[in-house]
Amino acid sequence: MYEIAVIGYGGMGSYHTEQLLTLPEEFHLAGIYDINPARIEAARSKGIRGFDTLEELLAEPSVRTVIIAVPNNFHKELSIKALRAGKNVICEKPVMMCAAELEEVIAVSKEAGRQFTVHQNRRWDRDFLIVKKAIEDGTLGKPFYIESRVQGSKGIPGDWRCVKEAGGGMLLDWGVHLIDQIMWLVKSPVKEVYAHLLSVKFPEVDDNFKLLLRFENGLSALVEVDTYTFINLPRWHVSGDAGTLQIDSFGCEGKIVRAKTSEMHWEAGIVYTVAGPTRTMAPRPQETIEEIALPEVQTDARDYYRNFRDADLGKAELIVKPEEALRVMRVIDAVFESARTHTCISVDI
Ligand code: NAD
Repeated sequence: MYEIAVIGYGGMGSYHTEQLLTLPEEFHLAGIYDINPARIEAARSKGIRGFDTLEELLAEPSVRTVIIAVPNNFHKELSIKALRAGKNVICEKPVMMCAAELEEVIAVSKEAGRQFTVHQNRRWDRDFLIVKKAIEDGTLGKPFYIESRVQGSKGIPGDWRCVKEAGGGMLLDWGVHLIDQIMWLVKSPVKEVYAHLLSVKFPEVDDNFKLLLRFENGLSALVEVDTYTFINLPRWHVSGDAGTLQIDSFGCEGKIVRAKTSEMHWEAGIVYTVAGPTRTMAPRPQETIEEIALPEVQTDARDYYRNFRDADLGKAELIVKPEEALRVMRVIDAVFESARTHTCISVDI
């Protein structure tokens, strides 16, 4: 049985334990440790083993892998301790606070001969996999612009996420997921990064940001996170040279609209429309377009753990690779630099 323990039994630590407990044939939840004794007791009250100290957990020989689910500024210290104790590490996102920290941790994992990766679980999200499939199937033709956003209106939950030193802010939160998804989708180096980070309600951290990425293959992407918006824009809007895809929300309502033919013969003169006299923005004739349903996809977020285990046992290739996490962290470093200097940053990532 593959033994996993969890460090940090808050929101995400609880999620990991619940997920693993649904797979009793495949994984054994060895227990948890949390710096807050009340959280250890909370685990024990559910029949989960609570380790009294970090050292006790790391000294447990049956534990092969630890998941680190603590606030962001403790990821580096705990990852290094666990790797040096001979454990594989799955670290929560953001994998580290910056690329330099991650380089250090990757070096330690190599020295220790242990696997290290980050929990980019949103690679298994249904909305994302629909976009990925539509692009890979060629349904949109050649994609040239991707918009990916998440929006809420409740601000940032009032905990360490509002504190800069703790790694708070939306770029290091949802931003990491959305950037990782785009970089996994677009197999081309990032060449330019331009970002606006706003602090609408939380002065210390970004609670709203807009980020433009330009890739070497010519594709551009807009990544957007808002915590104070009361009317949401679509979760995804993807433009290709043969059609457009829109997914409205995580519920995956949406559609694809395609041109039936690449030929374009339009009226010679001005067209009078609700937009006034315009040929460019006049609607296309209905017979030149077709609407098709979004592709079907099947997904199970628990495949993340299965893939990690299989990669550790030499039976599969690791899906979320440390070098991919490093590319994401380098983009994030460039985003902070762009926001600080109010400039577009040229990169080769
Ligand atoms: P949380 O505040 O709910 O829980 C954090 C827990 O860590 C608390 O119980 C706290 O007592 C404990 N803790 C703090 N410092 C510790 C230390 N040094 N050693 C041991 N325990 C310690 O936070 P959360 O929402 O669970 O977030 C934890 C991590 O998970 C963060 O890095 C966050 O970005 C990430 N996260 C990921 C996702 C995802 O979808 N992948 C979702 C939410 C959070």
